[in-house]
Amino acid sequence: MSAVIRIPFPLRRFTDNRSFIDTDANTVHEALESIFDKFPKLRQQLIDENGQLRNLVNIFIDQDDVKNRGGLKTSLPDKCKMRITLADTVGNSDLLLPELTRYSRHLLLPEVGETGQKKLKAAKVLIVGAGGLGCPAALYLAAAGVGLLGIVDSDVVEESNLQRQILYNIDDIGNSKAECAREKLSRLNPFIEVKVYNEVLTSQNALRIIKSYDLVIDGTDNFPTRYLVNDACVLLGKPNCYGSVYRFEGQASLFGYKNGPCYRCLVPTPPSPERVSSCAEAGVFGVLPSIIGSIQATEAIKIITGIGNTLSGRFLTFDALCMDFHEFMIQRDDRCKICGDDPSIFELIDYQQFCRPESTKETVVPEINPIELKQRLEKGDSITMLDVREEFEIKISNLKNAIHIPMNSVEDRLEELNPQDEFIVYCSIGLRSARICNLLKERGFNNVLNLKGGINAWANDVDPDMIIY
Ligand SMILES: [Zn+2]
Repeated sequence: MSAVIRIPFPLRRFTDNRSFIDTDANTVHEALESIFDKFPKLRQQLIDENGQLRNLVNIFIDQDDVKNRGGLKTSLPDKCKMRITLADTVGNSDLLLPELTRYSRHLLLPEVGETGQKKLKAAKVLIVGAGGLGCPAALYLAAAGVGLLGIVDSDVVEESNLQRQILYNIDDIGNSKAECAREKLSRLNPFIEVKVYNEVLTSQNALRIIKSYDLVIDGTDNFPTRYLVNDACVLLGKPNCYGSVYRFEGQASLFGYKNGPCYRCLVPTPPSPERVSSCAEAGVFGVLPSIIGSIQATEAIKIITGIGNTLSGRFLTFDALCMDFHEFMIQRDDRCKICGDDPSIFELIDYQQFCRPESTKETVVPEINPIELKQRLEKGDSITMLDVREEFEIKISNLKNAIHIPMNSVEDRLEELNPQDEFIVYCSIGLRSARICNLLKERGFNNVLNLKGGINAWANDVDPDMIIY
């Protein structure tokens, strides 16, 4: 009788990556023996020392499980499909034989051992942001065997990500980060499940998403999402492995763990926008997030396995240029609005609004969007375009007839600009130019607009040939 045997992904490394094998056999036993002849290493993966199917191995003939029929003696109908499956790895913390091999260096550590590895297998970790911090954290958590990894990210891979976001390569540019992450992590470790949330974490979805995980890795790069993650974790009682990077410096801590402090205890009000720069604006040393992201993954693994001393109540800073680690002790603030003794926040709030301090709400810089700018340029309006980016950025993308003065030189070179002109100021994403708009207004320039989203928004909305970086 001829049969086709389907091999599950984790076992294909024993079958030269073949997923289907044709055989002639009368029983399940004969079929297995015929494939063991070709691929001897497969035997010990499927058959135990008593010659029976291993506990976590199931064989289906068409839709029927042979364990409910004649076991290995079950006869095969002609041209049937015989499917080998391994029991669902998530939620079932017994380790399969290939997992014992894969995790052997963990199993050798008495502090981790089989008990700790089973805890990792049963664990569910959510990574918010698959960027500089999320990539190394996800790689190490997947490699360590965390049974379910959730990845929240709505971005697509851009060329400028590849300097530090080590899950991606040039073939991924333009594709969803979360989907790319799932593909790479599943290939790194087929024994885990990766769940993708190709969406922005918001006050509407955060509790629903975070609820089903044991802990969160905060890999966000902005204050509104950082407060959102913090508050959602405190409300749900989930530990929050915090990390952030800025230029050459990184920080890490563990918030909301065993009555320890939360992010709000440390930073009760958001810093003013003038002090806030994103990586896109300020730059980041490419190797730095790998160190901080790995620290976040380390904390997660320690919490799951219950070993070591965590960063709860400790705030770690790292200066890559001086190669200097420093830590200071932090405490829960009993007046904290969300984790204090008399909290006033019981649900998620509008974090965009919260991170926009009162003082700046009235002095919001007037903006023009790329489409409006294009229309005005086509009309021939008399506008002076002021590009405040650095020299190297102008080589990447450029608008015709713009004046170039890097942000930090504008104040010294004001005499080159006529205060009577109408100015449209732009940078890469619109933050540096907003600061320059404010500066120009202070110096008597009355007609100043900021290009919303910067030249990258122009590239996106108006000029598809222009590079976005
Ligand atoms: Zn707090």
